[in-house]
Amino acid sequence: MLLALQSLWVPPRGVCTPLLDALPEAAARLRVDDEGGQFMTQFAENRQALSRPLRGLGPRAHAEGGGLGHLRPECGDVEHDEKDSISAYAATGCGYSMGIGIGSCGRALALALLCCFGSGCEKAEGPATPKPEIVSTKSGIEMVAIPGGWFEMGSRTGQADERPPHKVWVDAFLIDRYEVTQEQYKKLVLADPAHFKGDRLPVEMVNWGDAALYCNARSRAEGFSPCYDPETAQCDFSADGYRLPTEAEWEYACRAGTRSDYPFGNDPRLLADHAWFANNSGNRTHPVGTKAPNPWGLFDMLGNVAEWCNDIYDKGYYAVSPERNPTGPAEGKLYVLRGGAWNSKADACRSAGRMGEAPGMQDACFARDAIGFRCVRRLKSGGGECALSRERAPLPHPTPGPEGTKGRPAPKTGLVYGDVYLQHNTGPGHPDRPERLTAMVDRLKQKGLLEQMLAIKPAPAAIEWVTTIHSQQYVERLKKGCEEGVPFMDTRDSPVCKATFEVALNAVGGILAAADAVMEGKIRNAFCAVRPPGHHALRDQAMGFCYFNNVAIAARYLQEKHKLAKVLIVDWDVHHGNGTQAAFDGDPTVFYFSVHQHPFYPRTGLATDRGVGKAVGTKLNVPLPAGSGDAEYKKAFEEQLRPAALAFKPDFVLISCGFDAHEGDLLGRMKVTTPCYAELTRIVKGIAEKCCGGRLVSVFEGGYNLDNLASAAEAHVRALME
Ligand SMILES: [Zn+2]
Repeated sequence: MLLALQSLWVPPRGVCTPLLDALPEAAARLRVDDEGGQFMTQFAENRQALSRPLRGLGPRAHAEGGGLGHLRPECGDVEHDEKDSISAYAATGCGYSMGIGIGSCGRALALALLCCFGSGCEKAEGPATPKPEIVSTKSGIEMVAIPGGWFEMGSRTGQADERPPHKVWVDAFLIDRYEVTQEQYKKLVLADPAHFKGDRLPVEMVNWGDAALYCNARSRAEGFSPCYDPETAQCDFSADGYRLPTEAEWEYACRAGTRSDYPFGNDPRLLADHAWFANNSGNRTHPVGTKAPNPWGLFDMLGNVAEWCNDIYDKGYYAVSPERNPTGPAEGKLYVLRGGAWNSKADACRSAGRMGEAPGMQDACFARDAIGFRCVRRLKSGGGECALSRERAPLPHPTPGPEGTKGRPAPKTGLVYGDVYLQHNTGPGHPDRPERLTAMVDRLKQKGLLEQMLAIKPAPAAIEWVTTIHSQQYVERLKKGCEEGVPFMDTRDSPVCKATFEVALNAVGGILAAADAVMEGKIRNAFCAVRPPGHHALRDQAMGFCYFNNVAIAARYLQEKHKLAKVLIVDWDVHHGNGTQAAFDGDPTVFYFSVHQHPFYPRTGLATDRGVGKAVGTKLNVPLPAGSGDAEYKKAFEEQLRPAALAFKPDFVLISCGFDAHEGDLLGRMKVTTPCYAELTRIVKGIAEKCCGGRLVSVFEGGYNLDNLASAAEAHVRALME
């Protein structure tokens, strides 16, 4: 009866700026999916495709280039000409000096370069400019704002692929101060692929495609347009989101105004102060930022893990490279790796050192656990050299409002809904009727909110996820009961029909799909308009209109599928979620907060119920007397939930979102108003933003007055979309 929901997620259009004339055709396809489910599948497939070798890459490709370290024994057929001694290669000649000078631009810059040649200057070492500004992004990642400027790329004395040295202009950009850590990677993408585990260690075992997808996820999480087309892997340099650095950007940032072999000079004996490499690493990675930074404040540009660049690798590219913003050759089998790694010799850690590596992990020759990356983002300067060389780079101010940068709204909030949820028939007079959902979804449609949300279509969850919370026997008993037409399951208030089992599986499946979409960065958060509800369901028992414990299963799913450590469940349904608390009562990795009417059904949830064993303190119950309203709820959220949640530091937040504490509910006796639901939403959202990049999925539970449901759901969704 309802609604063709439309996904409005649109990949960035492939538009090149005139400056980037060397850019290969960046033709990203405009795509609007009709079905949320179809979109999900498509994304998953694309992700797989990006893990495979790109652009016709054959099944076996090899590392090439300047010998950035030890190659795996199976790659012994690769040419690998290393220099005998690095100390023999002191920098000579003048070349081009840095042209970043504050206040210089255009002619002044050209003049400065001319003066340098005219006077026969010998060196341009050491920081040429004041230290660029360090900024913090919306998700709390430190970046350095690099002003645009000229530099000499390559080396006269290095490997063949570093020649000829040539002058290059690079527009202003932001670059990560550190290599992407496992903690950052896990928060946005999927499981942590790293071999050497540790939150502060750089992520490794990352193929080029996964690095690009991380960039896209981070862009979406901060309200920017993703740069990579998930189908073609083409980078849209005009998009304002994150991407891998071009090779020129990487070397420019690494050199930091220097022309010597290393940013600290030419003496490789000093490398140990600046890098984790073969001589000092103990054959493993180390926490980022534990060696000295380069003159611009960037850490681990040398060593630790080698870093993917956006460019395709070609040995002879420097001979034909354009002068301004080079983006690498259009075709090739290998991608550029820069910066040396924990297993590299000193020579490979030089600023100019290059290496080509197959983008797919299965073809990597360079040790896979020695490959990571860092991100860049363009600064909105218009691209001219004046714009940012004249003044300090501005602080970036992400603007994640409903208006996207290209006139299309960025995907922010998902909606799980499907007509299948109407098929759970509880019989006449039962409070849990299908109209509860249609009242909410119709309102979202009337108010124009629906079209701004990403539609997520439900599919039945796999039983293996349901049995993370419920026993196999119970699942089978419920299935059989529905098939055989029993009138109810366990208690009279939990009636079943033939479809109930399948509908309940779809409720779980829709929520898990929303969790996936958030984890993949397609949406920031989601509201799941599902039936039947879940928070009373116990391991072996249906209870209080609930059959499968939706949020509890979602929490376990996030932990097992997405490898998240800690989940926060906020339950503002008027009833205590006894099933949820029971599922995690002894588990310190799931924090359960409930504010509820007390005494009331199901009579659990005393303030003294704080968890058991190691989990004591991770369950927080705030029982309130009938008649409590906005003031009591806000106080509980601000004074009890917020400090406890911030101390717990969840990796994901789930809401058991009942609207039955609303004044005028048919079951609850509380007096919460519609505007208060928006405020509670903002508090919980604020916790998610502070702790886990805003990752939040809200799951509908109770609420039995149709008018209340419509208005409270609207307020809740509007706050989620803010
Ligand atoms: Zn309830």
